[in-house]
Amino acid sequence: MHSASPLLETNNLTKAFKGLVALQNHSMRVEAGELIGVIGPNGSGKSTLFNVISGFLAPTSGSVQLLGQEIGGLEPAKIARLGIARTFQGTRLFKELSVLENVRVSAQLREPINLAQALFGGMNLQARAIDSAALELLHLVKLEKRLHDKAGSLPYGDQRRLEIARALASRPKLLMLDEPAAGLDSSETQALLELIRLIRDQYKVAVIVIEHDMDLIMNLCERIQVLAYGNTIGQGTPGEVQANPKVREAYLGASEEAAA
Ligand code: ADP
Ligand code: MG
Repeated sequence: MHSASPLLETNNLTKAFKGLVALQNHSMRVEAGELIGVIGPNGSGKSTLFNVISGFLAPTSGSVQLLGQEIGGLEPAKIARLGIARTFQGTRLFKELSVLENVRVSAQLREPINLAQALFGGMNLQARAIDSAALELLHLVKLEKRLHDKAGSLPYGDQRRLEIARALASRPKLLMLDEPAAGLDSSETQALLELIRLIRDQYKVAVIVIEHDMDLIMNLCERIQVLAYGNTIGQGTPGEVQANPKVREAYLGASEEAAA
C-alpha cells in the first residue's frame, strides 16, 4: 500500500527541563485538514508540545516531522515558513500597531518584503497582494471594520481573533491554537468554534487545538489526545476519549470535582 507522509508526525518526542520531564515519548500523526484536540490538566505538557513543534523549544529527544521532513530543533521562523503557525496562551499582538499592520507583519514572514515598507506604505505590487490577503483574513475573523484601530485597544475577544488572522497570514498547512477560548464567554466560544471549522474548510489547514473548554473540544475535534504529567493517557474520537476510564479518572473526573 502507498503510504504518503502525514502532514505532521511526532515520534517518541521528549522534552525535559533539568529534572522535569514535561513531555515524554509523545507520538501523534496529523493528516492534512484534520481537526485535532489536545487536552489535559494544567502542567501536563500541552504548551510544551506546541513549543517543541513550532521550534520555540528544541526537543530533548525524539522526532518531529512535517511532510516527512525532520523539523525538530529548527528555528521558529524557519518552521513557520515551512507551514506551521501557532498562537500563544494569552495574546502576543503588537499592541501599538494597527489591526492591519499586525497581519501584514506576519504575512511578510512568508513573502519577505521590506518591513518598513510593509508597515508604512510605499506600496509595491507584492505589498498590495499582501494587503488583499490580509483584508480577506480580517474579514474572515470579522475585524474588517477595525483595520486601523490599535490592536491593544480591541476587546479581548477581538484580540484573540486577530491572533488567529495573524497566524493564518503566514499561509500555514498546520495551525496550532493554545487555549483560544480562554477568557471568552459562551457565545464568543461558539463563534470561535464556527470560525475554526470555517478556517479548516476554506483554507484546508489542519488545526490542533489545546483547550479546557470541553464543549468546544468535543464538538469541534475529530480526534483528541489526552496528556497527563507529560504522558499520553488516551486518544481517539470524542466518544472514545469520554468513555476512557483513565481519562475520566485523570482529567474529566478532576474537572467534574472542580466544577462541583
Ligand atoms: P500545560 O500547557 O499542559 O499546562 P506546560 O507544557 O506549560 O503545561 O508545562 C508542563 C510542565 O513543564 C510544567 O510543570 C511546567 O512548569 C514545565 N515547564 C514548561 N515550560 C518550561 C520552561 N520553559 N522551563 C522550565 N519548566 C517548564
Ligand atoms: Mg499551556
